[in-house]
Amino acid sequence: MRVFKFGGASVKDANSVRNVLSVLQKVGHNETLVVVSAMGKTTNALEVVIEQYRNKDTKLSNTISELRTNHKAILTDLFESNPHSIFDTIDAIFDDLSLLLQRNKSPKYDYIYDQVVSYGEIISTTILSAYFEFKDVANQWVDARNLIKTDSTYRDAKVDWTETQEAINTLIDKKTLTITQGFIGADTNNFTTTLGREGSDYSAGIFAYCLNAESVSIWKDVPGVLNGDPRVFENTKLLNQISYEEAIELAFYGASVIHPKTLQPLQQKEIPLYVKSFINPEGKGTAVSKGQTLEPFIPCFIVKKNQVLISLSSLDFSFIVEENISEVFSLFHKYQIKVDLIQNSAISFSVCVDNKFGHLKELITELKAKFKVSFEENVSLYTIRHFDTEAAEQLEKNKEILLKQLGTETYQIVVKQ
Ligand code: ADP
Ligand code: ASP
Ligand code: MG
Repeated sequence: MRVFKFGGASVKDANSVRNVLSVLQKVGHNETLVVVSAMGKTTNALEVVIEQYRNKDTKLSNTISELRTNHKAILTDLFESNPHSIFDTIDAIFDDLSLLLQRNKSPKYDYIYDQVVSYGEIISTTILSAYFEFKDVANQWVDARNLIKTDSTYRDAKVDWTETQEAINTLIDKKTLTITQGFIGADTNNFTTTLGREGSDYSAGIFAYCLNAESVSIWKDVPGVLNGDPRVFENTKLLNQISYEEAIELAFYGASVIHPKTLQPLQQKEIPLYVKSFINPEGKGTAVSKGQTLEPFIPCFIVKKNQVLISLSSLDFSFIVEENISEVFSLFHKYQIKVDLIQNSAISFSVCVDNKFGHLKELITELKAKFKVSFEENVSLYTIRHFDTEAAEQLEKNKEILLKQLGTETYQIVVKQ
């Protein structure tokens, strides 16, 4: 079996949906499981819905209406003027979303977040499945919440591999074309959970692992994995081949073309991952597999924006030792702060972190009770894998460097944004 993943950019409008079908027709779709994200920027829009709901903002119903209208416009374009039951189906899903918000009694933000954002993927896959049928491409729509079983860490759910494996083997018909959602799963109470923003790549990895798939292809708006994000760096080059280890490193440092969790299940079973262009499906793309680190072997540039640089020193000039450090890390864990870089000396300790769950204030307050704390928000972390002097010098140009760290393979700087 093959697993394909189509992200938000590949299903952003009616033409994109047509293109997905054309890609499948070119590369074949038997014995294929297709994992799909929400259309375009729908997840961002649903995050706005949640904020407005929380703030009892009167614009809430407008925001939902706008989303409904946008999806309806895509339907009208795809299904032309034909009356088709998909219009009612999508209406019913939107009604359901409004009802969910009206009836919700839970004050838990992360819980309601997952119940709401998951609608993006349910809607996109429902549309794709109906469109494929409409074009005589038989397929089976499956609800990923019956397959991906997780704990109840809403917004960052951990997979229960045994339960997931069993559900996938029972419910997926390997012979056909299956369409399912990325990003979402369900906990033991059958409440919806999500695997973290951009988590659809990871879903593809989970499905591939459980199905012993022969390969995973993630279809992107770029020719494959490049040696830098083309939106940020100039003259980027395609990496033809990279090892799992290298891909994990690149993803970990922030190469957002692959979600960092995707590689681990694939590496375990040595399932190759192809990153390919949905604009040019015949292009070679990038193969991630066992073997050569990187081909061509060139410096790779990565940037993570909107990070926070926190510096701690002891209140009494005593050393920062294992005990304090372990305390600091348990606080990072408590407040879901993701650590990207660490630098320490005898009496000070600096970390560059990602505040994606928004708990920075609480963390700082707690840290201030024990340490002298300073922090700077809106910094960028730049990493070069396999750096050389020329690459480092080029990157440093016109930047105000707050921290620098060199390893044998990796060069990192934290700079003001
Ligand atoms: P999806 O549609 O699957 O969600 P993403 O937008 O998450 O796709 O990922 C594709 C984007 O990743 C590209 O448009 C590109 O700007 C960005 N990107 C970041 N780093 C790289 C890299 N090293 N190689 C290619 N693309 C990269
Ligand atoms: N739709 C989700 C997001 O935008 C998951 C994904 O696209 O990978 O984060
Ligand atoms: Mg994405």
